[in-house]
Amino acid sequence: MEPATTKEQKPEFVSVASRVHSIECSKAFSQLNAKERAYAYYFTRASWEGAKICYFQRSYEAPAFFYLFQKIFISQSIAELKTLATGDALKFSDAEWTQLIVYIAAFFQNCGNYKSFGDTKFVPEVSKEKFVAWIRATKAYSLESARFEEILDSALLEIYEHRPPYYEIAFSDNGGASSYYSYNISSEDAEFIKQFLQEINISPLNTRVIKINPKYYNILFCSQQSVVKKFDYKGVTIELIYGDFAPFMTKVVENLKLCGNFAANEHQKNMIQKYVEHFESGDVNLHKDSQRHWIKDKGPVVETNIGFIEVYLDPAKVRAEFEGFVAAVDKEATKKLSDLVANAETLIANLTWPKEFEIDTFSKPDFTSLEVITFACSGTPIGINLPNYDDITKNEGFKNVNLGNAYGKPKKEYIQYVDPAEIDLFVKYSNDALFLIVALHELLGHGTGKLFVKDKDGKYNFDQENLKHPLTGEKITNCYNHNETWGSRFGELASGYEECRADGVALYLSCFDKAMEILFPGREAEWDDIRYIGWYEIIIGGIKGLSHYIKDSKKWGQAHVLASYALLQVCIQAGNGFVTIKETTKDGKPYLVATLDKSQITTTGKKAVGDFLRVTNYHNLFGLLCLSWASFSFL
Ligand code: ZN
Repeated sequence: MEPATTKEQKPEFVSVASRVHSIECSKAFSQLNAKERAYAYYFTRASWEGAKICYFQRSYEAPAFFYLFQKIFISQSIAELKTLATGDALKFSDAEWTQLIVYIAAFFQNCGNYKSFGDTKFVPEVSKEKFVAWIRATKAYSLESARFEEILDSALLEIYEHRPPYYEIAFSDNGGASSYYSYNISSEDAEFIKQFLQEINISPLNTRVIKINPKYYNILFCSQQSVVKKFDYKGVTIELIYGDFAPFMTKVVENLKLCGNFAANEHQKNMIQKYVEHFESGDVNLHKDSQRHWIKDKGPVVETNIGFIEVYLDPAKVRAEFEGFVAAVDKEATKKLSDLVANAETLIANLTWPKEFEIDTFSKPDFTSLEVITFACSGTPIGINLPNYDDITKNEGFKNVNLGNAYGKPKKEYIQYVDPAEIDLFVKYSNDALFLIVALHELLGHGTGKLFVKDKDGKYNFDQENLKHPLTGEKITNCYNHNETWGSRFGELASGYEECRADGVALYLSCFDKAMEILFPGREAEWDDIRYIGWYEIIIGGIKGLSHYIKDSKKWGQAHVLASYALLQVCIQAGNGFVTIKETTKDGKPYLVATLDKSQITTTGKKAVGDFLRVTNYHNLFGLLCLSWASFSFL
């Protein structure tokens, strides 16, 4: 198909300075015993075998170039390939070599030539002539030149073209392309197929659709077994063809069966069994069953999931992308987190409100810290909340996990707004600081504070007669009605407010040595630095977050960003030169630098945040809270 010329799009390159960060997983893997390692290993193999499907789901051309790049990199080392490119015959400059290699790295990372975050095309920066010349000079090409030529002939246009319909993933009638569907399928056709599948009560999650002609469709189901079922629906013939990606499924099933031999418990065994049956038959109900066993397998040493999970990539949002992951419990971090929970009551007693404003019994939040070992998909998230089947999550449960090592270590050159003199320290302690803030935020921040409620019968859950309003000293007259919630009272402000309270608790409690002793035992000499960078992270977050503020609608795009901004303001308003923001320039452009006086954290900082928390915690008395926040009047 010829590209449209009316709507010009600028090509998007993957910048040479792209932030490539490696995920450190050797420590997590080394903490596993032999049986756990075998379980992780076979699940990893199953995940990567299945993840080849992701290339087929991203674009028509992606699988062909996946094949081509794989062959090239299997046949020769990077050093040989570089010598080939920069040698006398091809004469690549160093910059051109980097452009080529960055493109290929991004291609593998995104499972194709469209970004997994945003779904727009990126193209090689190196010229088409050099790209092709390099491919033709490789050893892999010499071994199967006819097939390589066929790929170049049929798909090179799509690799370099960036005008519609070769620019974004969308239905053809919306100016894009999506390889979940044949080229000739419109959004209307997809809706027709969706209705049909709904009527026969079959999930579209693991399917692709091909339109043979307006009266004849094929729906391909991913499964190992081949079955064909024919339907007539509203005068149209629809064939359900099972067996799509069967060669991949054979390997997925084979590895999962081996994995099942090393399951740690019955839940894992049953879960694997259901996965196997699902991938063999293509029946999504069996995948739902696997998830029922998965949610019962609480806090496993090796955490996993596999299947057709997220529907972001499909323009109709009903077909899911394949993904598989393996993560290990970070035993060291998890022990520290449970020590923190064990000491919760002592720590909470330090907070700046009387115990009557605290919940009667502290309930341990569901929070497991995992380290990613494998993430076979087009992107790696930093947290997971699964399954995606609403009926299961509502009625049977779900799991919420943090993927600690997916955050990555910050690189010096990308750190913004930090005093240049402190950047080295910032890099050194960034991960420790994040652990400090996240642990206190999740475990004690969200878990504390009590809502004062008057129930259906007019009874109060606090001593309405004797408890005094902490700010006025008067009797408490305001509280939540039984049919009100925190969210219904505060609406859009609710989640940002709650995140702010949690971050405030984290900053405040970090000032107590008890918290540092639990989280960083034996590192007394570093406590001040870790605490300092923890506070710095929030301050910088307040500045960075300004880009998420939508001026026209006066909205913050993200709850945590609003939280950091409010705390930044608290620290600036604390005075005493505790936090200052200097306007300066960087590369000729206006720039800001924030400084934070380390020596004042446990004095000025602690007092300011403590006072602020005292007011913010009185969200149990909602009227007050609105007043205290109104004083920020933001931007
Ligand atoms: Zn939070």
